[in-house]
Amino acid sequence: MTQEPKFAISDPQSAIWQAVPCAYCQGTGRDRWELLSPLSLCSACGGRGSQLVQAPYRTCAHCAGDGAHPHLRVTCTTCHGLGVVYVPADAVPCGRCDGRGVDPQSEIDLACLLCGGSGWWSA
Ligand SMILES: [Zn+2]
Ligand SMILES: [Zn+2]
Ligand SMILES: [Zn+2]
Repeated sequence: MTQEPKFAISDPQSAIWQAVPCAYCQGTGRDRWELLSPLSLCSACGGRGSQLVQAPYRTCAHCAGDGAHPHLRVTCTTCHGLGVVYVPADAVPCGRCDGRGVDPQSEIDLACLLCGGSGWWSA
């Protein structure tokens, strides 16, 4: 039996995609809030318990890696429940939100308008 690389998959553009556990359901594949039924599938990962993210990636600043919006019972608008976001290697901490991912002008902690909520900015 050949040993396939477990997580790294290359696409035609040679981007590296890695499977990471879904933060929204903590890898269980079940709906985080069990609003409909305990058997409902996680809306972020579709029940797989993991999602693919392009590398390199970092913890999502907007939700601090939690996968849920800071105030709403929905997936984080920045990482879509993944808990991490793709950040280019040359990115610098976002000057608008100081790397927090939350827009300083927003009263309900919407994603930073400059970095999109990742907390990182690159040209
Ligand atoms: Zn999930
Ligand atoms: Zn997030
Ligand atoms: Zn920002």
